[in-house]
Amino acid sequence: MGFKEEITMKELTICQRCILPRSYKAVRFNEDGICSLCRDHASRAKKEQAELKERAVQLEKIVAGVKNTEGPYDCIVPVSGGWDSAYAAWVMRREFKLHILGLNVDNGYRTPLALTNLEKISRNLEMDIVTLKLNANLLHRLYGHFFRTCGYFCTVCNAVGYLTAGSFVAYESKRLKRKIPVIGGWSKKYEFQPGLSTLSMKAFDSILRLDEDLYHELRNNPLVKPSIFDAFMSLKDVRQGGTDHGILQLPDYMDWDYRRIAKVLKVEVGMEEPGIDREHHYDCFLHPLQQYLKYRKFGFDQESIRCSVLIRENRMTRDEALRRIDKVQKTEPPVLQEVLKQWNMTREDVNWEADWERLW
Ligand SMILES: [Zn+2]
Repeated sequence: MGFKEEITMKELTICQRCILPRSYKAVRFNEDGICSLCRDHASRAKKEQAELKERAVQLEKIVAGVKNTEGPYDCIVPVSGGWDSAYAAWVMRREFKLHILGLNVDNGYRTPLALTNLEKISRNLEMDIVTLKLNANLLHRLYGHFFRTCGYFCTVCNAVGYLTAGSFVAYESKRLKRKIPVIGGWSKKYEFQPGLSTLSMKAFDSILRLDEDLYHELRNNPLVKPSIFDAFMSLKDVRQGGTDHGILQLPDYMDWDYRRIAKVLKVEVGMEEPGIDREHHYDCFLHPLQQYLKYRKFGFDQESIRCSVLIRENRMTRDEALRRIDKVQKTEPPVLQEVLKQWNMTREDVNWEADWERLW
């Protein structure tokens, strides 16, 4: 098949507007090759705008309630060294003038870029940062257990991150005798992946229970508060279910404009501007492997979903999105061999054919 035919074939299998593939189960296509998300966009966008206005008022109230709190800081912002969390920190520090404490979870796979960024965030936003690190032995066994059982491991990082951070916040709230708000930078609109998401805490709980020792070791870990463990484990999506636990995701409360974010972080925090490459999540060494596993399972990864949202909002051209999604990790990245060794397993131990519906 020649290059031109290949392009034509590809065009036929994706939405004519937003590039989502026909194989994507969460959307339906009409006879013109337009996906349901594109068809419903106008009405959904209108509703979203109205919600955002209401939420902006709520945010002002929350900020007013904690500003100049007696004590060392007003709120906690989890930072990974990536873009979204850095921007959440910038907004809280510079726009709302809050004193913030940064909270970083070391999953053992932070990249040099993430560490450099954390240094810049700390310096340029006058921010103290606490790093939480679960012992690497337990962490590796957790990753291994999930990779063996369901051919995926990112759910470990998500769960451990929220469990340790949530526990830290609970202990701090007790110490400072007030409820400390946690302001995150996770964007449901851009990052949630219907049909591809594998980060349910309920599913994490049931798979973890398959190894009783591991389950109890995590629940009784000094960085994990058992009451937080039990509360979070019953949530489907801890990233969205957090408001009851004092976790607010800033992108739910304001326009999350990536062009502005890039500009602000470059000029005011000194972070490097992201290019066309897929460095959006390059705060983690395992990111290429995560991409590859999703590509292997679905034929595309979450970058397609993210780009499709940006196209619908006229924040990315279709051509740019096509160039971007073409860079998906299609072959086994070298980091696979490295982690298999660390997690004490072989390629054959991985459950490559696992049903990921179980993970959600
Ligand atoms: Zn579409």
